[in-house]
Amino acid sequence: MIDTTPPSIDTDIAEPTASVAAARIVRRLRETNDWRRELDEALELLGTAMSVHRTIVFRLETLPEGFVQSVVAYWADETYAGGAAPTVIPESVIREDAFMQRVAREGRQGKMFAGLTREIEGFLREDFERQKVKAFLSATIFVHGHVWGTLAVNDCVAEREWTLDEKAAVEIIALAIGSAVERSQSESHVSDIIRSAFLQASLDGVIVIDETGKIVEFNPAAEKMFGYQRADVIGKDLLDTIVPTYYRAGHVDGGDYMARRGRPMLGRRMETVSQNAAGEVFPIELTANEVRIGDRTLFLGSIRDLREKRLAEDEINRQRDRLHQNEKMAAMGSLLAGVSHELNNPLAVVVAQSTLLHEFAGDPQTKARAEKVRAAAERCGRIVKSFLSMVRLHATTYAETDLNQIVRAALEVTAYGARSSGIGIEADLAPGMVMVMGDSDHITQVAANFLVNAQHALNTQSGERRIKVRTFRDGDVNGFSIEDNGPGIPKSIRDRIFESYFTTKPAGVGTGIGLSISRSIVERHKGKVWFEDVPPNGARFIVTLPALTHAAEAEVAAKPEAADIRRALIIDDEPDVAGSLADILELMGVKSTTVTAWTSAAESLSGPEPDIVFSDLRMPGMSGLAIHRELTERRPALARRFVLVTGDMIGARAEIEALAPHLRPQVLEKPFSTLDVRSVLAAINDQVSLGRS
Ligand code: ADP
Repeated sequence: MIDTTPPSIDTDIAEPTASVAAARIVRRLRETNDWRRELDEALELLGTAMSVHRTIVFRLETLPEGFVQSVVAYWADETYAGGAAPTVIPESVIREDAFMQRVAREGRQGKMFAGLTREIEGFLREDFERQKVKAFLSATIFVHGHVWGTLAVNDCVAEREWTLDEKAAVEIIALAIGSAVERSQSESHVSDIIRSAFLQASLDGVIVIDETGKIVEFNPAAEKMFGYQRADVIGKDLLDTIVPTYYRAGHVDGGDYMARRGRPMLGRRMETVSQNAAGEVFPIELTANEVRIGDRTLFLGSIRDLREKRLAEDEINRQRDRLHQNEKMAAMGSLLAGVSHELNNPLAVVVAQSTLLHEFAGDPQTKARAEKVRAAAERCGRIVKSFLSMVRLHATTYAETDLNQIVRAALEVTAYGARSSGIGIEADLAPGMVMVMGDSDHITQVAANFLVNAQHALNTQSGERRIKVRTFRDGDVNGFSIEDNGPGIPKSIRDRIFESYFTTKPAGVGTGIGLSISRSIVERHKGKVWFEDVPPNGARFIVTLPALTHAAEAEVAAKPEAADIRRALIIDDEPDVAGSLADILELMGVKSTTVTAWTSAAESLSGPEPDIVFSDLRMPGMSGLAIHRELTERRPALARRFVLVTGDMIGARAEIEALAPHLRPQVLEKPFSTLDVRSVLAAINDQVSLGRS
């Protein structure tokens, strides 16, 4: 039988010829990804097959100082041991040697270089003799059509003629080496492209530095993050660029910095700071890695700017705090509403009774004491009111309002705190009335906020502490200002103090809502609010509001008081409150009838006809609004002469606003002072006279 299986060239032939060796080498070079490693075995295989003493792959490299022919791979037979290694030949030698130039030219043309040392001349002859080369054969290796190097075979023992088969083998192997190099170059080219695309597209800043701290790579994201152009920072030291100035001290250069401060950062993701071209230091997340290439060490840093992330985190925290504050405020709101409701009735009695005591006391001492009690109780009432309006601002109700009154009211609520901590208050109020159209509760709230802030600011100060309050007229606007000689407002927070929940005060002291509420109130009134520095130190908050015309001011000043109100009907389940109101009305020449248990409109109206009705809003089993309805059905004229008395202004407001505008009663808030009762009478008076005209 004939064996048809062809012998395997790799294994079956013990002593291959040059062409068999060439076939093996070509196959291996085609299969490998690493031609360089394959070369050592290829040279040995070729050398053995051809029975030569040396096989060499030279490489023609272009260096800055010119090209050079260096040795890439080299095999020598053991019999050759001790002979000189192949020579690295620089361009300068080749350029001065006519023979070598000819060899180079013919090599470029693809001609094989073969012969005997004895027959050649110049540098090569000496060189070959030194290396004991007797006969040589070499073929040019081309890569992408350019001379890349040569594959050389030397017989170092005998002069010999190379067979055609040997020449063909050397030429084929040279071709195969060329294609293997080409292939690996295109592979490395692809991975180079991928790498550089990564670098270009990365959203993270990528910076590569060498062991001396010089920047060798700086990608577009890094350019954007740091504000440096790549070309400007390549070759610059790490220390002179992105390391914050205050970390530079004590380091000679970037290499030294990396070796000491940088080393612990390697291989970890960590948060640190960096500095941009403008000198701003900002937080970053850094992942640094060491890359070894031959005997070089590079450091690769991947950098993320944390500023936006931090801002987002801060915003989330702020919102969480805000939510928390809102919940706290809501809880405080209902608590305070309940407390104020309970407090207002007894306070109403204290205010009214002390007013009467003051009015009728025979001796001056009692008069003075009664006045003190009244003032204190009124302050209690205002504090309760201001707490309530701070928690839940009622809807704005516009009326002609005197800024002087407002400032005085705000001072009353806050002045005690100021005086008790030794702060002097100077009030410089414009003469007469400074009229604006507005909601007096709300504007008082604004002034009170400024006063409280001024006191807080002064609490941190030593020396003379002063608050100046001023009202003024200025062309089309009227306004007031509150100034302190505290620390003033630092530049860094100026843009933020009007933001909701922005506070520099400790938890429990500041809520951060004072100024933001104040601004929204002033803007709702079409006014302006701002602050100024007070030299040498301190802050001044100023509010201006559209002024009412002088005619309106005069009209307000000339308002008649309760001229035609003579009789009042008071409906209140608390006899003390009813009695106190009756007492105050008495002072104003108004006689009252009191009903403490409501039965019906008919019964209540059985006595003398009232000019005005005061009814408590909430009584057991009966509401002031129901009484209002019943009474006005029977006596429509009373619709304009009805006053609801309430300690729960916020709750009342909603119910009253549900009524048609012409049916809405006036409101007297508990605790009421003589002044409050007088204003209600004036309002009823206006309403009635407007209704007539
Ligand atoms: P709060 O008083 O609860 O902090 P505000 O909105 O009223 O809230 O004030 C916000 C911040 O504005 C204060 O925390 C403080 O830093 C600053 N500020 C307000 N008024 C003054 C002032 N007169 N002097 C100095 N800083 C002030």
